[in-house]
Amino acid sequence: MTKRFRLGVIGDPVAHSLSPTMQQPAFDALGIPAVYELWPTPARELPARIMALRDPDVLGASVTVPHKQAVMDYLDEVTPLARRAGAVNTVIHRDGQLIGDNTDIEGFATSLIEACPNARVRYALILGAGGAARAVALALEALGLTRIVVANRSVERAQALAADLEPAPIAVTSLDERDLVPELRRSSILINATSLGWHPGETPLPLEWLGALPANALVVDLTYRDTDLLVAARERGLRTLDGLPMLVYQGAKAFQLWTGREAPLAVMLKAARQARAARS
Ligand code: NDP
Repeated sequence: MTKRFRLGVIGDPVAHSLSPTMQQPAFDALGIPAVYELWPTPARELPARIMALRDPDVLGASVTVPHKQAVMDYLDEVTPLARRAGAVNTVIHRDGQLIGDNTDIEGFATSLIEACPNARVRYALILGAGGAARAVALALEALGLTRIVVANRSVERAQALAADLEPAPIAVTSLDERDLVPELRRSSILINATSLGWHPGETPLPLEWLGALPANALVVDLTYRDTDLLVAARERGLRTLDGLPMLVYQGAKAFQLWTGREAPLAVMLKAARQARAARS
């Protein structure tokens, strides 16, 4: 099939991205003649890269670290939700206009609903205050949580998150045992949204503190591997969820925005799982 349309993931680095592995089979499955590529883009090349998205054959792009914020300056429109999150992870090229959206929010919400469809979740504790933590906080607000606590190495960054996302019900605490353990005791969900977890031995908090969580709590790690945090949580009988479903659901939402078609979820999930298995 001659590939007429083009898409790609913009970031620096992007070599590790699972997006092409998951998006290309989705386009192929629906017979859409598109190629999804890796577009490594140092910061100085970002304006030219975004300008190139205006080519009529480009459907859009995914945006990853470190450009999720900077990209907003080069777009014609940013959706209110992405503007509120302060991050764009998807650019849609529509009728000559470049629109920025944030599908991480829906991706996380969908993965959470799937993991605990009937649970009444009220309190959540997020570790981390970067772009992913912002998306998680907005998803939890949309799901109706009444208390969302954010704990981060840099407390100032957590405070900025809470201020930017007002009126979401966000409180800030430190990572000190004295502050964190009482929060763990009343949390129905613990979410690791820090970048710690990609390597064995990396944990966002001392694992023995997991004992403070209620027995029916869910421990989520946005890292899409079985992290030490998730293993330790399971050993304590807690339910766990890794970041792969979020990755797939945010990608499926982006696919739908680019093409106007429902994404072939099963195809994407299978491709993402296979790619993860091949890497581990
Ligand atoms: P950011 O760089 O924006 O934020 C990183 C966060 O990790 C900050 O809160 C930072 O704290 C914290 N952190 C980094 N190093 C340390 C450390 N040594 N000790 C304590 N805290 C640390 O990254 P993102 O928010 O974009 O991504 C966070 C994670 O989420 C990554 O692992 C990413 O791969 C994953 N992710 C997964 C997605 C999915 O679909 N599953 C989607 C998006 C992200 P500080 O502010 O103090 O520096």
